[in-house]
Amino acid sequence: MQGVGFRPAVYQTARRLGLVGFICNNTRGVIIELQGEEEKIAEFLARLKSGTDKPPLAEIKSCRTSDIAVIEAEDTFTIRSSDSQGTALSQVTADIATCPDCLAEMRDKKDFRYGYPFINCTNCGPRYSIIRSIPYDRPNTTMSAFKMCDKCAAQYADTADRRFHAQPIACGECGPKIWLTDNKVAKAQRDGVIAETVRLLLDGKIVAIKGIGGFHLAVDALNDKAVKRLRKRKKRDHKPFAMMADSIESIKKYAVVSESAEQILKNPQSPIVLLPKRENCSISPAVAEGVDTFGFMLCYAPLHHLLFREGLEVLVMTSGNISDEPLICKNEKAIEKLGCIADKFLMHDREIHRQVDDSVVHIIDDEPVLLRRARGYVPTPFLIEEKSRRDIFAAGGDLKNTFCLGKQEQLIPSEHIGDLEDADVYHHYINSVEHLRKLFEVEPAVAACDLHPGYLSTQYALSIPDVKVIKVQHHWAHIASVLAEHNLAGPVIGLAADGTGYGTDGAIWGCECLIASLVDFERFGHLAYYPLAGADKASKEPIRPLLGLLKKTYGDDFKLGEFQWLLEKVEPNRNKQQIISEQVNKKVNAVETSSLGRVFDAVAAMLGLGTYNHFEAQLPMALESVIETGVENHYGFELTGTAGQPLQLDLCRMIKQLVCDVKDKVGSGIISAKFHNTVAEALLEMAIRAREKTELNTVALSGGVFCNRYLINRLIKLLKKSDFSVLFNRQVPSNDGGISLGQAAIAANIVKRIL
Ligand code: ZN
Ligand code: ZN
Ligand code: FE
Repeated sequence: MQGVGFRPAVYQTARRLGLVGFICNNTRGVIIELQGEEEKIAEFLARLKSGTDKPPLAEIKSCRTSDIAVIEAEDTFTIRSSDSQGTALSQVTADIATCPDCLAEMRDKKDFRYGYPFINCTNCGPRYSIIRSIPYDRPNTTMSAFKMCDKCAAQYADTADRRFHAQPIACGECGPKIWLTDNKVAKAQRDGVIAETVRLLLDGKIVAIKGIGGFHLAVDALNDKAVKRLRKRKKRDHKPFAMMADSIESIKKYAVVSESAEQILKNPQSPIVLLPKRENCSISPAVAEGVDTFGFMLCYAPLHHLLFREGLEVLVMTSGNISDEPLICKNEKAIEKLGCIADKFLMHDREIHRQVDDSVVHIIDDEPVLLRRARGYVPTPFLIEEKSRRDIFAAGGDLKNTFCLGKQEQLIPSEHIGDLEDADVYHHYINSVEHLRKLFEVEPAVAACDLHPGYLSTQYALSIPDVKVIKVQHHWAHIASVLAEHNLAGPVIGLAADGTGYGTDGAIWGCECLIASLVDFERFGHLAYYPLAGADKASKEPIRPLLGLLKKTYGDDFKLGEFQWLLEKVEPNRNKQQIISEQVNKKVNAVETSSLGRVFDAVAAMLGLGTYNHFEAQLPMALESVIETGVENHYGFELTGTAGQPLQLDLCRMIKQLVCDVKDKVGSGIISAKFHNTVAEALLEMAIRAREKTELNTVALSGGVFCNRYLINRLIKLLKKSDFSVLFNRQVPSNDGGISLGQAAIAANIVKRIL
């Protein structure tokens, strides 16, 4: 089982049924020994399995029972303290949104925690973000600064209480407090803080609010001027902002909430969920331009609930950081760094030890899929079949980095760390590896990393003394992440649709059909290479892939002059076009690539949807957002093969037809739909060819391009119609945030066979 609050719940069920024995943790879950009447034991099991007596956060993955001889008659039921072996893994759990019981108490004038912004219990509250070291006891958390009052201490000690052994519990008498201040910190306001904060927000002010995993920058999402001011001050011109509301009803005013979306919004993990926008709603357009979704979450900390109760409707709640730097979680740092952004600070003195971003989820094939895995989900581990004999560290990739630790039968991915090219993020990465390694008592003998020699994560893995380094090809890691999630070893037909990954031949891969297992992979097919000029700039400036694709398509017939009608709206500077074109022709400062992400960039630019990716996948997201529904046809493509070589997907026909459509002024929505349909058809065809050759019938989908909902939904449908069984990432992102899990799974497999 996984989750918190399990032992107290079992304790209470056993007591209620008059059963004696004990419960204790081991590395995989719990062991319960019971003595008592047979019917009572049967009822105990039934209650546990049916969920009647199961705590809300626990998930029972499997349950095995056996009869044992009574050696000694017990006279009571006890919670035995955990054995020391591997307990770190089961002790450190995720941060969880305030539970309904605590909310009710917080709203009850007669309760001694009435209106208390840090109310929590065994079933809710902060965990991962406040733990400094194990064992998980109060002195090892940031709550060590607060001594429990008699009332709290009594609940903590009472086995029948919902707060039995809940480490972070506190009340207004003994626990953390809130205050409001400006960036001078001259004097802090301690009375009427909630009402004053709400007044400021409704007045259009920007307030930095300290939450569970860090600071948020909050403004009224209905106030266009305020939202624009926040954008300007935060130096975040384009990336959509997330929002918070306090009820599903209020979210429904602004976005379409499906049943599965409602479920996931209300989950104790409380992630941001991407929801289709409602047309003409009153949210400031500056909140999320160029995308067709809003990111919404519900209040998840008591403090949020208190604020919304005072008359807030919907808030922008964006991470408290400057552009792509790490999330800020310390009070002094917030003043220093956010002082020029926020008008006021709503602070508290419960220290956040680990900064954790909000998680982001979207709905694919009617199931929740994580796009960013952080608060609420980390550090929940993935289980592997066989205990690993060596500890593992997997470094992840350089974009949207997470890393992953492996110990015994668990793979534990870190929360979203960020893009390592930012020096502060890289620093944070190194500190995080150290912290989690110590917390989970991992001494890696093996370090897995990306094949890319220029990745900072790779260099970091190589710098660790006395470990065996395993370099894993990027797209193999993507597909392995799907295998790891589904606890499979493969082989499967892996379709990776991605931006950039270093290939075994030194080219930049990105659209790959791999016959892959956790042992190895074979490159069965890929998008035919096209030239791409200008390394780092290639993923930002769509003129670069566009010129490469046009060159590939029209060969020597391609003349810049004849395409000015198309090119000038992508890059008006003729001189720059000329330079890039020459780099492509002469193969100087240019690489061969099969990147699919860059094709999306080029197509979006041809449709006039933008000339620059200010953040990753901005142009592809814009392209997806204009798709006209109901368009079923697609452009042409070819799969060509030579013996002994991977199958080549040739998109030249598509490019020609698409260029004609643009010239004929066919609507962007239709062109975009036809383009997406072509990619889906081509990938389906690739899978069919792979099935013919290998007789495999399972397809695994991964890679950043599959964050595109239209594409993955359509491909899943096509594959299912052709009788494939389809696997895709759900628990880790299909973007590079997922590859550390794949790397770790491959490493664990190698350890099993070789080391
Ligand atoms: Zn609670
Ligand atoms: Zn107290
Ligand atoms: Fe990738």
